[in-house]
Amino acid sequence: MSRPRKIRQVQFPPRYDSFKPCGIPTQELVQIELTLDEYEALRLVDEQQLDHETTAAIMGVSRPTVTRLVESAHNKVARMLVRGGMLVIQGGDYQLNGHLYRCPKCRIFQERLQKLRPASHPCPQCKESNLVEISLPAVQA
Ligand SMILES: [Zn+2]
Repeated sequence: MSRPRKIRQVQFPPRYDSFKPCGIPTQELVQIELTLDEYEALRLVDEQQLDHETTAAIMGVSRPTVTRLVESAHNKVARMLVRGGMLVIQGGDYQLNGHLYRCPKCRIFQERLQKLRPASHPCPQCKESNLVEISLPAVQA
């Protein structure tokens, strides 16, 4: 029997869910998937410049888990830059402190603490009113 994986807390999801080189068609690019928990570890350690100990406390995981997530994220971002791939941020073992919505037009993520009626909360960028709620992955045993 495998040990249940700890669910990682994600405070702020990424603003965009994919990155690719300008002017290159998507179908010509290798897709590299960065999970949301890897993204959150990268955000806290490299962008916010927190140490692994603090990041572990924020994400609700052990320090070695943070080290593994950051190493994996570095490897994926480096591969994307060096080989010219498309980075897609999705999946992973994570939990948000709220509801996550994505605009189908400009693909911006938005996190809300309350479940919202999309029609009354349009996308702040393009005013699209059909925001899609992203369903979170089930807890894996
Ligand atoms: Zn939008």
